[in-house]
Amino acid sequence: MEKNYDVIVVGGGLTGIAAAIAAKRNGVKDVLLIERYGFLGGMATNGLVNPFMSYFKSGEPYEEEYQLTFGIFQEILDRLIELEGFKNKRTFDAEIMKLVLNRMVKEEDIDLLFHTYVADVQKEEENCIHSITVSNKAGLSNIRANMFVDCTGDADIAYMAGVPCKKGRDEDGYSQPMTMCFRIANVDRAKMPSRDKINELYTQAVKRGEINNPRENVLFFDTMQDDVIHFNTTRVVMKDATNPKELTEAELEVREQCWQMFHFLKKEVDGFQDSYFQVSAPQIGIRESRRIVGKYILTGEDVISGQKFDDSICYSAYCIDIHNPSGTGTIITQLQKGDYYGIPYRCLLPENIENLLVAGRPISSSHEAHSSLRVMPPCAGMGQAAGTAAALALESGIMPYQVESSLLRKKLIKDDSIRW
Ligand SMILES: Cc1cc2nc3c(=O)[nH]c(=O)nc-3n(C[C@H](O)[C@H](O)[C@H](O)COP(=O)(O)OP(=O)(O)OC[C@H]3O[C@@H](n4cnc5c(N)ncnc54)[C@H](O)[C@@H]3O)c2cc1C
Repeated sequence: MEKNYDVIVVGGGLTGIAAAIAAKRNGVKDVLLIERYGFLGGMATNGLVNPFMSYFKSGEPYEEEYQLTFGIFQEILDRLIELEGFKNKRTFDAEIMKLVLNRMVKEEDIDLLFHTYVADVQKEEENCIHSITVSNKAGLSNIRANMFVDCTGDADIAYMAGVPCKKGRDEDGYSQPMTMCFRIANVDRAKMPSRDKINELYTQAVKRGEINNPRENVLFFDTMQDDVIHFNTTRVVMKDATNPKELTEAELEVREQCWQMFHFLKKEVDGFQDSYFQVSAPQIGIRESRRIVGKYILTGEDVISGQKFDDSICYSAYCIDIHNPSGTGTIITQLQKGDYYGIPYRCLLPENIENLLVAGRPISSSHEAHSSLRVMPPCAGMGQAAGTAAALALESGIMPYQVESSLLRKKLIKDDSIRW
């Protein structure tokens, strides 16, 4: 058994980074951040996901008066801007992101373990985690902490500790599809046809059997470089990202799709004739897997009706965005213009494990609410809230569920994570 930490945060995505930094800044002495890769960022870097979906009130322009997420998320944006790694208030450079996040974690004197996978948990009593088992080049070892924050995206720690979890939509349990993001470079943008024309050509290629992708159209975004186009358009359906065999099948299937898409673009779409396949993400992107059952389950209705709660710890106005878990089509339902909803602190609190907080996409929510709250800005906000709550609990010698939400909100407002 190694050192006894105050807080262990598992998962170095935007949620986990915000959680670790917030815990440290709020007075926690020993914080350990564990990440399975050799760099930080989670889906923002290992999934090559881009851009930040809106962190402003629904349908409002990207102006500070309409902004919903600040705090550590804003600090990340500021540092990206400083290194010329951010444009149009949404597109970022994934390589600069990795550097920025390393620096932010190092500056806070947070202990960091890269290339380390959490593989098991040990419980002291039925409702308390005692330690975790990590697997890395040193073999297996156990690390102990008083408090744990699960930012794995898949609720790995919660699941291993016996927190009840749900997956996918109610009717058949299928989660949103997985997508490998990839980039094509040396594109002559001036020659590119309209999105409608590209989609028409794509539909014909699918009909001819040249592309095996159930997605209805071609989804692409700008990057930091004019000649590089970011594609978020592959789709692997009806596979469970927490089933190792199905995840492996998904990785194999999606690489073929990437290649088919590239060939289609090069052969059929003006502007792509001299292009090349620049990069695919280190791993397939996972939109949805486990969702914990916590003290409150956020619903699609809460999202669409713009519910604000007494214990809201961050806000979002991103639409309900469900890529069809079993085939073609995407359901998008927007909030009223100018509206937004709150994410209650209770959604971060597992129903049965007391010294664990869960933040990011696997919080306690329905499939529909999850499709909105999963985007990067609210994830960072949830992370900051979880780390702050862990610090407040430790300071008072209580469990996270005993932290007064009014006190937590006050702290988050003081630290500029939320503004009201
Ligand atoms: C294809 C796709 C497109 C998307 N598009 C957008 C978009 O355009 N805009 C937007 O804002 N959001 C988008 N999202 C959503 C968003 O990227 C994620 O939901 C968000 O980044 C989740 O952040 P996180 O930190 O909670 O989890 P993750 O980013 O998944 O981070 C989890 C981290 O934990 C680590 N980890 C996991 N398990 C373990 C373990 N057992 N031990 C150690 N480490 C572990 C992982 O390596 C990872 O670094 C998209 C997602 C996908 C998949």
